[in-house]
Amino acid sequence: MLLLARYVLPVSDVHIEDGAVLVRDGAIVSLGARADLLRDHPDEEVVDYGLAALMPGFIDLHTHMEYSIFRGVVDDLPYTEWKMAVQGREHLLDEAAWKDSAVLGAIEAIRSGITMVADVTDSGASVQAAQDSGLRGVFYREVSTMDTASVDRVMAEARADIDAWTAATDSTRITIGIAPHGPYTCHPRLFKAIAEDAAVNGRPVSIHLAGSKDEYDFVKYGSSPLGQDFRTQSGWADEPWMPTGVSPVRYVYQWGILDLPNVTAVHCVHVDAEDIDVLKRTDTAVAYCARCNAKLGMGTAPLGDFQTAGLRVGIGTDSPASTSTIDFFEEMRVGLLIQRGIRGEQGFFTAEEFVRMATLDGARALKMDHLVGSLEPGKRADIIAVDLSKSYQVPTQNPYGALVHTCNQEDVLMTMVEGRMLFDHGRFLTTDPEAMGERVEQLRLTMRS
Ligand SMILES: [Zn+2]
Repeated sequence: MLLLARYVLPVSDVHIEDGAVLVRDGAIVSLGARADLLRDHPDEEVVDYGLAALMPGFIDLHTHMEYSIFRGVVDDLPYTEWKMAVQGREHLLDEAAWKDSAVLGAIEAIRSGITMVADVTDSGASVQAAQDSGLRGVFYREVSTMDTASVDRVMAEARADIDAWTAATDSTRITIGIAPHGPYTCHPRLFKAIAEDAAVNGRPVSIHLAGSKDEYDFVKYGSSPLGQDFRTQSGWADEPWMPTGVSPVRYVYQWGILDLPNVTAVHCVHVDAEDIDVLKRTDTAVAYCARCNAKLGMGTAPLGDFQTAGLRVGIGTDSPASTSTIDFFEEMRVGLLIQRGIRGEQGFFTAEEFVRMATLDGARALKMDHLVGSLEPGKRADIIAVDLSKSYQVPTQNPYGALVHTCNQEDVLMTMVEGRMLFDHGRFLTTDPEAMGERVEQLRLTMRS
């Protein structure tokens, strides 16, 4: 299949005007000038997207698709209250509801041009949603307990889930990892057990780290609403906790989590120079979740310092439970504008840098850039087409600026994973959003009551 568009953005190289991408058997075969590829492949099926950008699909470096249904149910709350409100409603969802919620997340990801997710899941519903919808992903089985007596049981359950999910999914698209939830929900014994398990089995790891000020205060000083209200709600009020005197990053570092070979730390808002040095020395990747962090009042991650230190950084949405929508253009735009607003003309991030962060850098963060993240011959055909022809988009001198400053998820024309179209010209080819819409509305009413 030969895909044509006004702009082809390989991301790993300069963009091509009036370009084409040849896709066969799930892989990118070649790309170049439209005239050349049309001449060399006269019998190939052609799809022309017109004034649009063909580019690698977005990589959502942190999400929870199974939490999509919480959009609008827990809204306009600061982090700790939001976290408690989400947790306090989880019991209202049965297995079928978690499944619907995850499918809703997959539909919205596909609509937004996301071809790969790094998804933290407790129920496993996200894994199934990706398997069925055709998305690519790394799925991390979430693990937490502050009760030292339950560590062995929690780990045994996690291992059983990981084995079952691995057996039930297509390993060319889906990888299963493990996620210690975070510093305020994992006992040190649990951290050590996870570090051992991940090292032995070569599992990728994701951890929420240094997100809110409450988390920082809880870890360093031993007290904050997270240390009281949340622990009481979680049934851990009687578990001992002492101030550690160090930052969340340095606290987790001492339990061996960051020494593992494939770790993504999510948020990293409340970090200092020494923390960033730890992240660099341990080659820990960072998921920049600008909209979630701003909306829940968590603060803003020091992206310029990450860049100066040479960290691997991609972009995460953290699901509609926190950001309300999965719109990767909005994510790039807000993420860029917040940094410019704070930093002024010093360390001015460009739209092109953010497009790279949303694609190739996300793949690097997951150590999967040999497979995806850019348009290069030999890589898997995870490709999107984005319309640039609307009145609010033309003229387009610079496709990167147009993508970041003018587009939204409605402008995605096509989403392809492994050469298979999941969405094309308004039609979902692997999922059914209309059927999902009705079921989800009923569930939301139940959750509000
Ligand atoms: Zn999260």
